Amino acid sequence: MKIGIVGGGPAGMFSALEASKHHKYVTIIDRNPFLGRKLSASGAGRGNLTNLHVSPQSYSALERFSYSEIVQKHDYAFLTRYFKDMGITTYHTDDGWTYPISNSARNLSLFLEELIQEKNIEILRNVFVKEINFSDDQFQISLDNGQVMPFDRLVISTGGQAHLQLNASDEILAQIEKLGHQILPAYPALSPLNTSKNQSKLLSGVRLDAETRIIANEKTVARTFGNIIFTEWGINGPGVMDLSHYIFKNPGQNKIKINFYNENNRQIIDELLLKFQESAFQLETLLLAVFPKKLIQQCMLNAHMDSNVCMNQLRPEQTQNLLASLSIEESILGTRGFEFCQLSTGAVASSEINPLTLESKRVPNLYFAGEVLDVLGPCGGYNLHWAFVSGIVAGSSIGSS
Ligand SMILES: Cc1cc2nc3c(=O)[nH]c(=O)nc-3n(C[C@H](O)[C@H](O)[C@H](O)COP(=O)(O)OP(=O)(O)OC[C@H]3O[C@@H](n4cnc5c(N)ncnc54)[C@H](O)[C@@H]3O)c2cc1C
Repeated sequence: MKIGIVGGGPAGMFSALEASKHHKYVTIIDRNPFLGRKLSASGAGRGNLTNLHVSPQSYSALERFSYSEIVQKHDYAFLTRYFKDMGITTYHTDDGWTYPISNSARNLSLFLEELIQEKNIEILRNVFVKEINFSDDQFQISLDNGQVMPFDRLVISTGGQAHLQLNASDEILAQIEKLGHQILPAYPALSPLNTSKNQSKLLSGVRLDAETRIIANEKTVARTFGNIIFTEWGINGPGVMDLSHYIFKNPGQNKIKINFYNENNRQIIDELLLKFQESAFQLETLLLAVFPKKLIQQCMLNAHMDSNVCMNQLRPEQTQNLLASLSIEESILGTRGFEFCQLSTGAVASSEINPLTLESKRVPNLYFAGEVLDVLGPCGGYNLHWAFVSGIVAGSSIGSS
């Protein structure tokens, strides 16, 4: 029996490794010169592979997240043990973000490729799958070099459109649609946001943890607490990236609100203001105990407050005004697009996929894994977790079929 894996990212590599436990002829086809090209760039080159806090609730989808049982069963403990059994040791930071101890995603890709070769899995590099046909229980795969290859089982693990400069491609989606699957729209997700910068003009370079909301028609539609970075063009960092896919639900009407005074620091700031309320301490200097100087200056400017005001000169309503001004609301002009995002939404709808085996309900012996499925995880290792474990599920489902 011949097994074909289209796409040699983390999902394809893990599908191939699992399938090879039961089948002799497994072939990975990828358009890149080496496997795991996007994986090699992940986590700023360190490879944020999974997260201590992974659970089914971590995930969403453009339509609906249907793979809770897979994530429940293949959790953090499962995946880190799986890596360990392969010879890859990981560690996690205080917030659960998990990396290989080499701190190198490229090293990990090289290691996995060697492992794959050792299992005698065939790798076809620098070739692009143009067409997929299915008849008489066989898949015929047409490559851009003119070759046509037959397979009995097929895994499609072609990823998404994020970072097209890494040879990402969604051209295969037309073929999947032709096979009878519904394709959901692709929008940039986990993307920095371009904003109007009317209130945050001076903040370029400021980085801090804050509460961030997306507001549409005066209502909060999504909210996070996380690290954000102000830039020349708008706002970057996990705190906004985790929200970027919400702006397509209400195009053109979205605002971003960032609360610097929030449930994580409210008590600290209230105590500080109380402790120094009778003193001649300058307010601006006092707030340096909590915030970067640029941020305090911008917020005082927004509140029309004198930068030299001392604590013992502050009237209660001025204090209230200042606390209300420790936030910024701006219009969202758009995401930074596929070039700068880390994920794309949509692709293969889950309604036509068996949620336990990842086999197509439309075409027998066709499987999917990774980002090509309608799954959205936040920043922090959740998307690679999905790619690895969905690869394991698709590959082992083939093994038992
Ligand atoms: C810059 C960046 C940093 C990221 N950092 C993190 C992180 O730290 N942690 C995290 O969890 N997630 C991260 N992500 C997301 C994560 O990398 C992806 O979710 C993950 O790589 C998806 O794995 P995959 O195997 O499904 O697809 P991919 O890794 O995209 O692999 C798919 C492969 O298929 C190939 N392919 C596509 N079409 C064809 C075709 N027709 N013929 C042949 N080959 C084809 C592609 O070229 C690619 O090599 C990051 C993404 C980016 C862009």
